[in-house]
Amino acid sequence: MQPKSNIINLPVYQPGKPIEEVKRELGLSEVVKLASNENPYGSSPAVHRAIQSELENISIYPDGSAADLTADVARHVGVNRDQVIFGCGSDEIIALITRAFFLPGDETIMADQTFSVYKSNADIEGAVSIEVPLKDGTHDLEAMLAAITDRTKVIWICNPNNPTGTIVNEAELSSFVSRVPKHVMVVIDEAYVEYVTDPSFPDSVRLLQDNENVVILRTFSKIYGLASLRIGYGLASASVISLINKVREPFNTSRFGQAAARAAIADQDYVRDCREKNAKGIVFLQEEFRAMGLFSFPAHGNFIMVDVGRASREVFDELLQKGVIVRPGFSKYPEYIRVTVGSEEQNRVFLSALKQVLGAETAQV
Ligand SMILES: *Cc1c(COP(=O)(O)O)cnc(C)c1O
Repeated sequence: MQPKSNIINLPVYQPGKPIEEVKRELGLSEVVKLASNENPYGSSPAVHRAIQSELENISIYPDGSAADLTADVARHVGVNRDQVIFGCGSDEIIALITRAFFLPGDETIMADQTFSVYKSNADIEGAVSIEVPLKDGTHDLEAMLAAITDRTKVIWICNPNNPTGTIVNEAELSSFVSRVPKHVMVVIDEAYVEYVTDPSFPDSVRLLQDNENVVILRTFSKIYGLASLRIGYGLASASVISLINKVREPFNTSRFGQAAARAAIADQDYVRDCREKNAKGIVFLQEEFRAMGLFSFPAHGNFIMVDVGRASREVFDELLQKGVIVRPGFSKYPEYIRVTVGSEEQNRVFLSALKQVLGAETAQV
């Protein structure tokens, strides 16, 4: 059997190490996972009630068009219903976009250190990824503009950028979008938008209403705490949504996912509370890093990328021995780890482990 040649060397996605596996392998009873940007507080209690009442419908197919949730999300973000599409996480929306738009040999532009799912899906479709180096950990929009050719189909802007946590602001992004040719799609991935407190952050929905070629990705996996239920969404012009809809599987989201998302979006007090706790966590961790003499990028999501001054995989292994899971191994930043902002208690456990791991060196600086 001969697979498509472009997938032979494709790496399998490396997820954050599961807690269960670490406990089993190391014989630890307490493990703190700060590797996958999950919500340390879980999800709203309203979500649990919504799931409970959906139990009796397990045997019935979900509404493939997610009509009720579509109405809720359209109202919440301020777009029309025909401008929303749901996926098995926003990961699936990325896959659907590449499936609907890429032919082999098409080009797509992204940062050289960003969410890996853009490139892996482009690879699957045989498209060519042009990876533009980040500048100070931030998307270099001018260099991305300069990389556009007549083969360019899609540009991916991850805002805040995973893993660096940096943002492009309103002025930068709207100037960028106004200069991108209309035949090129600009996908703005806002998986962490609900965490952002910086007032210069772009109003991407306004950009979308003014520009047919803008697509926004959002998810219920991060601040809403529904990562296991796999539900995310895309916002775009009605014509782009109807194109993406053609390649969507009929029942790509579950009843539980839809019901949970409806309950979650209705509980904005919960979201606000998580955002505030996260913002405090960022300040706390950044102050501690500074005191340890460690550089970290400005953080606008629920994670921080910090320079540990040593091979990140070694630091990862040593933290793991102490029951703390972080994310190492970013090719452009081999001495940085990405750590999710946890609860106060989790942040303290992480810092104390990090101080022990780095202790010898930082004490001498
Ligand atoms: C987590 C994440 C997603 C998508 O997560 P889903 O669980 O598939 O919705 C998308 N983009 C970025 C940058 C992320 O960090």
